[in-house]
Amino acid sequence: MTYQTTEKQIASGIEEQASKSQWRDWKWQVRHCIRDVETFERLLGIELDSAEQNAFRETVARFPMAVTPYYLSLIDVENLATDPIFRQGFPSHYELDVLPSDMADPLHEDHDSPAPCVTHRYPDRVLLLVSNTCAMYCRHCTRKRRVGDRDSIPDKATIAQGIDYIRRTPQIRDVLLSGGDPFLLSDDYLDWILTELRGIEHVEVIRIGTRTPVVLPCRITDDLVTMLKKHHPLWINTHFNHPKEITDSSEKALAKLADAGIPLGNQSVLLAGVNDCPRIMRVLVQKLVAIRVRPYYLYQCDLSEGLSHFRTPVGKGIEILESLIGHTSGFCVPTYVIDAPGGGGKIPVMPNYLISWSTNKVVLRNYEGVITTYREPDSYEPTFCDRNCEACDLHLDLTGACERDLLGVEMLLSDHEDTISLVPQGNERHERRDD
Ligand SMILES: *Cc1c(COP(=O)(O)O)cnc(C)c1O
Repeated sequence: MTYQTTEKQIASGIEEQASKSQWRDWKWQVRHCIRDVETFERLLGIELDSAEQNAFRETVARFPMAVTPYYLSLIDVENLATDPIFRQGFPSHYELDVLPSDMADPLHEDHDSPAPCVTHRYPDRVLLLVSNTCAMYCRHCTRKRRVGDRDSIPDKATIAQGIDYIRRTPQIRDVLLSGGDPFLLSDDYLDWILTELRGIEHVEVIRIGTRTPVVLPCRITDDLVTMLKKHHPLWINTHFNHPKEITDSSEKALAKLADAGIPLGNQSVLLAGVNDCPRIMRVLVQKLVAIRVRPYYLYQCDLSEGLSHFRTPVGKGIEILESLIGHTSGFCVPTYVIDAPGGGGKIPVMPNYLISWSTNKVVLRNYEGVITTYREPDSYEPTFCDRNCEACDLHLDLTGACERDLLGVEMLLSDHEDTISLVPQGNERHERRDD
């Protein structure tokens, strides 16, 4: 990894004798995170006016700050106020504007927790929250309510309870390590968690969500990668929001992971004043693919407290997708999702391509505005599916094909279910009918 002038300056501002190897030591970076306004000004050689300083202090008292020296070194001091790195890492007074519609826990993650460290929302996969801390506190964090208040790593006994839940719940085939940032754990601790999970027969894949390739790329050490390789199939999702975050160091960190056979994905958040621009997003997704990272999700900003200044209308996200789909490689295009307030999970949203429909024709439009028809088959004979797969002439190998109950709209579409409507709980008309 390179060691640039700005990096050198910041390093010696932190510790006069700081060497290149210290700069590249992730523990040194974490130990020297910038947490107060004085250090921030001193390291960047700038002076904020007293109103700005006060605003900064007031905000930090409610929502603490932590920025790695590495991430600080990416700031463009000449254009501080509009810099995407600055906006993601440094407190804004707008964070204190809490709107009536804001919520501490909009995704109800604390409700859907059947065991310590576990959020179980979808049928076949869970979040395992293994770390309560991050290298950097993103200003747009959806778990802002928790940032800094329990800045700790859960002990083995607590995590073991979460793992036990996974062990006794056979429908879980995919476990996502999240937090906080799982890569703030030591290699040994992470190795223990991964080994425990790998010992569970029904856990097919393990995923890790980490922002360290963006804010602390030196965390991706050879030792870490050697350890991770033992636990395949392992997937990693990271969190780039702006092309400026793709640096020589982050590219090298990602290359190590990709070379170890770990498929890489990226989850961005749509942020006003940072990346709410089709051109910026196009550059971001294309650069990510060029370094073997597949754009996975683009999140609409959640309704968490302190994020109102980052929110865009949903239309901005749709406009961005309109400018990506068809215009660039399919695997550059992330799925744009709104994580439903109240715990409904991620809901995909995209422009409409289906314009109209008759019994044998579909009218579609493409990204260029060309309107076209697709003639549907005359000869398709729908088979009545009674879910008796053994008697069906399609070949489903039943061993290992798990049977499960149908859910939601999927159930309304099925032939063998009698359900014809889904009715909200407490519907008055239906309650009158019942008596
Ligand atoms: C996002 C999320 C997942 C994973 O969802 P995928 O669509 O499979 O990536 C699982 N559990 C919770 C609670 C989530 O928020």
